Amino acid sequence: MNIHFYGTGASEAVPATFCKCKNCQKIRKTGGRDFRSRTCTRIDQDLLIDFSPDIFDHMRYGGLDMNEIDHLIVTHAHMDHFYPEELLHIAPPYSMSPKPHKLTVFGNKTVCDRLKALGCEEISDYLEVRQIINFQEISVGDFLVKALPANHDPKQECHLYLIRKEGKTLLYAHDTGYFKEETWDALQGEHLDAVVLDCTCCVGPSYFQSHMGFEDNLKIQSRMVRQQIASQNTVFIATHFVHTYGPFQEELERAFTPYSFLAAYDGMNVDI
Ligand SMILES: [Zn+2]
Ligand SMILES: [Zn+2]
Ligand SMILES: [Zn+2]
Repeated sequence: MNIHFYGTGASEAVPATFCKCKNCQKIRKTGGRDFRSRTCTRIDQDLLIDFSPDIFDHMRYGGLDMNEIDHLIVTHAHMDHFYPEELLHIAPPYSMSPKPHKLTVFGNKTVCDRLKALGCEEISDYLEVRQIINFQEISVGDFLVKALPANHDPKQECHLYLIRKEGKTLLYAHDTGYFKEETWDALQGEHLDAVVLDCTCCVGPSYFQSHMGFEDNLKIQSRMVRQQIASQNTVFIATHFVHTYGPFQEELERAFTPYSFLAAYDGMNVDI
């Protein structure tokens, strides 16, 4: 299974558009891997997780071709993960194609309601919208995808996703704070090959209940190993970094590497 990160920044991206904090000022000058667009990850050839306002940048700088994507799973309907208006551009007159390329979108009720309100049912040859609920496992192309409860926004059912294919299992877990016990219960008995974790607050503890920092990531890693959900071979990856707490790639790698964590950056590719 290949995991490709197009966007690894939190909601405001890095640097944040209007921000004059010292981190954003520095990153505007130095650029490189410290520049982070909003979240979007591709699994193998045809599965995309989240569809951000930076989707055009993911095409321009990341090489993403939406015509290769058959399935989109949306973690939740926050702006940095879900830009529904752009999805409507899949149909004429915005896109011209000899035959429809159909994209199936899986998401929570809020995701589905927003797409319906925008008129997605009128372009169902191009865009199919399917609701997924927590603890449900469904076939998505060659993948099996199971939604699990995130600890994020009580106003909607935010999802973590277990993604399985050809004997490999990935847990994709952001946005979320430290996992709820019902999520731990559902993970018992799993043997994860890779875990992608919310690390909004970078190297420190979390300053929010609905997100994590590296200290929380380490708590999750050690509990997973203790409960044999993860092993020494499991690949742990931290992502969704916010500008405020210093998401400098070199500093993140220095802090994470001793604990066998990868710090994601825009364009990072991982094979498991
Ligand atoms: Zn987010
Ligand atoms: Zn800033
Ligand atoms: Zn969010």
